[in-house]
Amino acid sequence: MTHIRPTNEKLFNDAKRHIAGGVNSPVRAFAGVGGVPVFVQRAKGAYIYDTEGHAYIDYVGSWGPMILGHAHDKVIDAVKAAAEDGLSFGAPTPSETTMADLICQIVPSIDLLRMTSSGTEATMSAIRLARGYTGRDKIVKFEGCYHGHSDSLLVKAGSGMLDIGEPTSKGVPADFAKHTVTLPYNDIEALTACFEKFGDELACVILEPIAGNMNMVIPSHEFHQALRRLCTEHGVVLIFDEVMTGFRVALGGAQAHFGITPDLTTFGKIIGAGLPVGAFGGKREIMECIAPLGGVYQAGTLSGNPLAMRAGKVMFDELTGEGLYESLSKKTDYLIKGLKVAADKHGIPFETCAVGGMFGIFFTDQLPKNFNDVASRCDAKKFAKFFHGMLDLGIYLAPSAFEAAFMSAAHTYEDLDKTIEAADQVFSQL
Ligand SMILES: *Cc1c(COP(=O)(O)O)cnc(C)c1O
Repeated sequence: MTHIRPTNEKLFNDAKRHIAGGVNSPVRAFAGVGGVPVFVQRAKGAYIYDTEGHAYIDYVGSWGPMILGHAHDKVIDAVKAAAEDGLSFGAPTPSETTMADLICQIVPSIDLLRMTSSGTEATMSAIRLARGYTGRDKIVKFEGCYHGHSDSLLVKAGSGMLDIGEPTSKGVPADFAKHTVTLPYNDIEALTACFEKFGDELACVILEPIAGNMNMVIPSHEFHQALRRLCTEHGVVLIFDEVMTGFRVALGGAQAHFGITPDLTTFGKIIGAGLPVGAFGGKREIMECIAPLGGVYQAGTLSGNPLAMRAGKVMFDELTGEGLYESLSKKTDYLIKGLKVAADKHGIPFETCAVGGMFGIFFTDQLPKNFNDVASRCDAKKFAKFFHGMLDLGIYLAPSAFEAAFMSAAHTYEDLDKTIEAADQVFSQL
């Protein structure tokens, strides 16, 4: 069924000559679905265009940032105007203050923040800060949550659930991984057992408050309440990694959706409007431990980059506009309902979930609650076939069964209907 895309094939081969694996981030290589990646020429609104001129309705949106749609006119104008004034100074600019003020206004749990250049830097720095603040080394993370590629976080559970962690990547020292405890997501019992054993040794718990890196998993409200209570009782820093969910599931992120106040929050993806930006922030008392105020070191030559700050400001003006998240939610609901009806019609086991502008689709008959459910119950082969069938019909989904999908303000109901019709056709051939 897969179309041959000769230009993409040549471009991929050319890329492999001097780029390791032909890509600058592994998921782009299509290893999870097979075939050749689509090389993008340009994008506008809800559409990306490959180098052969094929148009695709895009549900990846650069893995989240493109919430306003690609090449949004006002954002592009802001970037052009900023570029005219110079690309980077390594000195403070007023636009950094504007962005910080805006974020603190939108996310009340943040008193102070720092800008970084990626989500990885934000989570890595937040963890160092939690360790510096508490004077403790151990951290807790959850299976299936992704927090970037720093050493402490590329760790899985040891043989017993509360054993010390083991690296998931070569090159991560075991001595490093032993400070990371990995628990099953959305499991209050495991969390409680962990706090009983290690509570007073833990610097922080870090999690995706809605998981978007094991497809999409929405944890129970009780899980969040237990996290907040246990962290408070044991003086452990609760870090919400909202790199994906921030300004995506709601204007105030997952913390607003659940009504839970973390101690620190990390951002990335959306806040840069497509430029490389991350941020971390939270309680004043904790954030004041960072240099030059305190003894926890963190820095960045391009942090608070003026292009990114000025683009971000314009983007926030749009995001805070009337009804944007309501409209995104309505569209995701419309789409996942349509997909479900089409799957049911053809007898395909299929489940969906969504919050705000983010949704998940699963080839299984029961919505997964954690990573093990996603990995063991969902039919990855069926997904790969579905993915390629949709791609051939001009619908661009994430090339992996372990990724969430994203809606933008630029998607029209006509685009959604086209997507549902394409799915109906592909389901009939699965
Ligand atoms: C993408 C992502 C990161 C890493 O951000 P990068 O900008 O890719 O370094 C961290 N946490 C979560 C939840 C993410 O989705």
